[in-house]
Amino acid sequence: MERVPSPRIAVGGFMHETNTFAPTKADFAAFRHGGGWPPLSEGPAMLEATRDVNMAICGFVETAEADGWSLVPTLWCAAVPSAHVTEEAYETIASRLVAAIADALPLDGVYLDLHGAMVAEHLEDGEGELLARVRAIVGPDVPIVASLDLHGNVTPAMVDHADVLVAFRTYPHVDMAETGRRAAVALAPLLAGRRYQKAFRQIPFLIPIAWQSTDMEPNASIYRTVAELETDRVPSVSFLCGFPAADIHDCGPSVVAYGETREAADAAADTIVKKVSAARLAFAGNSLDPLEAVREAQRLAEASTRPVVIADTQDNPGAGGDSNTMGMLKALVEAGATRAAIGAIFDPAMAKAAHEAGVGATIHGALGGAKGVFGDAPYTGAFEVMALSDGDFVATGPFYGGARMRLGPSAHLRVGGVAIVVVSSKAQMADREMFRFVGIEPEAQAILVVKSSVHFRADFAPIAETILVAAAPGPMPVSPAGLSFKKLRSGIDLSPTGPAFV
Ligand SMILES: [Zn+2]
Repeated sequence: MERVPSPRIAVGGFMHETNTFAPTKADFAAFRHGGGWPPLSEGPAMLEATRDVNMAICGFVETAEADGWSLVPTLWCAAVPSAHVTEEAYETIASRLVAAIADALPLDGVYLDLHGAMVAEHLEDGEGELLARVRAIVGPDVPIVASLDLHGNVTPAMVDHADVLVAFRTYPHVDMAETGRRAAVALAPLLAGRRYQKAFRQIPFLIPIAWQSTDMEPNASIYRTVAELETDRVPSVSFLCGFPAADIHDCGPSVVAYGETREAADAAADTIVKKVSAARLAFAGNSLDPLEAVREAQRLAEASTRPVVIADTQDNPGAGGDSNTMGMLKALVEAGATRAAIGAIFDPAMAKAAHEAGVGATIHGALGGAKGVFGDAPYTGAFEVMALSDGDFVATGPFYGGARMRLGPSAHLRVGGVAIVVVSSKAQMADREMFRFVGIEPEAQAILVVKSSVHFRADFAPIAETILVAAAPGPMPVSPAGLSFKKLRSGIDLSPTGPAFV
């Protein structure tokens, strides 16, 4: 293949996973801070800010630099999943990113690190709109490649305005950097003038996130097939499970395939559609009530030296929860659980009170409690302050992959036999260091409750006796059928077992 010597490529990113049912919106400050992600960065500082972590931009940049490409950093930012991106945040960030790309012209190509499930206050399809604006600036001939999260809700506009979309293949997302590498590999032939036919398919049912793990069936075999379908004639195939808590027309799982011919692209996409449809019922799992989950964990833990891990899936901050519902803590206390730990509870006021009182003190107060979540309320009582931290540490597990966590003033509080991690900045409990940084040894516990749906599996499955999924009151229903949709396309089923949206 002919090579373009040192092609000039603009790189940038703007990532948000929007739960349109969640309690809190993402404003500009949320992107400036980044939450569990690096803070917003622009220009040359962008490449340093996003280096050496498990993120797509990182894998793309490493590969591009190794190939001698000339990169033009523009703007990169991400925020913790939440409700809509505010209009002000979207327009501020999109216009800075597009202006930086315009300033970088002439270009040989553009790479964007996107999520695929961003909804803004004023528009449903955050990425489709952004890609359209970038396309308008660079024109029809400059190739645009974007990487997407496995939870992207792909829209026709996204497929139209990008030459190739490449999505993660793992959940927990341990292949984020790897996906960036694949995006660079996909861009290389486009720089030499090659173009592909596109096949886009939307799957007719929503998949609950707790059953999307690629470490389990049916996704383990589906994603093996996705990888196997790629050949020189079909250079890129992606299956996205979608992010179901998004009340938009194009919510749901999808397949995007690129081929030398229309037939080749169609055949690859249809193979995946067939496999996913055949596996439909295997995507409907079981969850337990909070008390039922704790009692089952106690029973299992008696015969084991390994912790039983309970996923508090309906308050997953990685899906738009505020990481502060108290249903699981109440169940742990009510069941008299010992050697139990729960985290990470987002409650800056309680973390501050613990820091003011000091280690060894007992503080009285109301912990957590999500506003607007039916069935949830703060946990009021006495808490012993066991340990304090400034919340600055490195998450070493395979999901965060060496990312620096900045959780702010944090504390280890204790109620009876239950250890509680309290933090001042929301981040999904997906790393054992998120217990250890306040002196809680996860391996020494009988029960670990994690505010996460699937990402925790990457670091916790290796130490877990077993994993249970609990449904305590929270803003992210374990089944999307529990959400009050208004804008979905008619006919799509709200879960693998229905009912259909009408
Ligand atoms: Zn995701």
